[in-house]
Amino acid sequence: MTTAFNPDTVARHIKSVREEIARCEQNHARKPGSVKLLAVSKTKPASLIRAAAAEGQIEFGENYADEGAGKSLELKELGLTWHYIGHIQSNKTKLIASHYDWVQGVDRIKIATRLDQQRDPDSQPLNICIQLKLDAEDSKSGCSINELEALADCIARADHLTLRGLMAIPAPREGLAEQRAVFAELSEWYQKLSRDHPSVDTLSMGMSGDMEAAIAEGATMVRIGTAVFGAREKHK
Ligand SMILES: *Cc1c(COP(=O)(O)O)cnc(C)c1O
Repeated sequence: MTTAFNPDTVARHIKSVREEIARCEQNHARKPGSVKLLAVSKTKPASLIRAAAAEGQIEFGENYADEGAGKSLELKELGLTWHYIGHIQSNKTKLIASHYDWVQGVDRIKIATRLDQQRDPDSQPLNICIQLKLDAEDSKSGCSINELEALADCIARADHLTLRGLMAIPAPREGLAEQRAVFAELSEWYQKLSRDHPSVDTLSMGMSGDMEAAIAEGATMVRIGTAVFGAREKHK
């Protein structure tokens, strides 16, 4: 049985995850403060998000569109930044375009086009990271390398979207060297993308189990759930 986290545990854990990020930056010759923490709060109650926000955490990630939209409304007065992360169903694009600031996981033109059309033109453009899938990855979501350029161009041209970079969810691997090899390849695609598109500044990779490898290979954002909020609850 897992012990449920309370606001005090979350406050403690957010501090230790930040320390760990700083330690990884230092160990791998990354500039201090160059890696942002995205606190992944899916399945977690608003009370725990408030506890993290009280420690200065601003960016939160959700991957159940409705659940995250509800929390973003409930916590509106805190001025947090909400990231939708993971696979996007096309019947959820309207909800996502209206309630989130970032979408990490766009993997096809159809989704990009819908988000662009459904974003309120009076809001800031929606920030987009393309989910990239490497050839060796056997995953059902993610844009393949040969589709990357066309998708990036489509997003960059869209009036209500801003192309910010790449996100990836490689299959879990044991050992730092194995993890680093995959992240290194993603990092090369990221560098190419940022040469082609000046708005690109975000390489979102690394989770609780492979954060150090991701930071070593150039992640600018790590998406951490379990290490901040404890083991996930069942999605209701
Ligand atoms: C849940 C989730 C995370 C966080 O995973 P942890 O292993 O709990 O840190 C990161 N990225 C995505 C896309 C997720 O769905």
